[in-house]
Amino acid sequence: GVTVTVDAATKVYPDGTEAVAPITLTLDPGRTTVLVGPSGCGKSTLLRMIAGLESATAGEVLVDGEPPTIVQRRGELAVAFQDPSLLPWRSVAANIALARELARLDRDDERVAELIDLVGLTGFAATKPAALSGGMRQRAAIARALATDPRLLLLDEPFGAVDELTRQQLARELPALWEGGGTTTLLVTHSVAEAVRLADRVIVLSPRPARVLADIPIKLPRP
Ligand code: ADP
Ligand code: ADP
Repeated sequence: GVTVTVDAATKVYPDGTEAVAPITLTLDPGRTTVLVGPSGCGKSTLLRMIAGLESATAGEVLVDGEPPTIVQRRGELAVAFQDPSLLPWRSVAANIALARELARLDRDDERVAELIDLVGLTGFAATKPAALSGGMRQRAAIARALATDPRLLLLDEPFGAVDELTRQQLARELPALWEGGGTTTLLVTHSVAEAVRLADRVIVLSPRPARVLADIPIKLPRP
């Protein structure tokens, strides 16, 4: 996993909205950090800055000392959003396989099948996204994000439409997967239960503009 350093980073949008106050934090390699905070406080903005999808107005975000865009271009960074942008004309399996191709990895159909099973989509490999429920599409997007064995995994409310039973299954199985690959993970959620279940560390952000209110290490025995 990689080390992410956020050094006095701020975000002011062009319309003047202050989304992120100066934030300084470090994400340790191979650990899972969960960001929680009130709606609209700047969680997604901070995550997008770490993904290289949004520039910092001031300060700096570095991934192992490099700009996130460079890490993204090497295919070492994966993101999954609440609204899963799957390619509609490709099957679930083809969407996941494409992520591997874009990261210049071999196709590995076995790994793709394994990920489809993990997220509870066994039997839906050949199905197109439009024929899936919202929760199933989110699960496909999570499988796609995991498919590249990313060194940095950024998840923004990825379980919003996933049913409770599958959530529990994912929560049980994902940490082992992340830790196995030594993936540094950042997860945005507004479920405190999910945060405690998945996190090595929970960072609580203030109302907008986001600043760090609390930084809490979590040590739960893993099932
Ligand atoms: P959260 O993820 O915590 O709900 P966001 O990071 O999405 O918060 O948004 C933080 C604030 O920035 C909100 O007030 C939101 O309306 C605003 N915002 C988000 N994106 C933009 C944008 N592109 N332009 C202007 N304001 C934005
Ligand atoms: P949503 O929250 O969008 O409804 P879910 O993931 O809860 O999405 O799935 C909704 C429905 O999709 C389920 O009630 C079921 O009918 C079908 N479904 C979901 N996962 C599976 C699965 N692994 N096998 C068969 N059907 C499934």
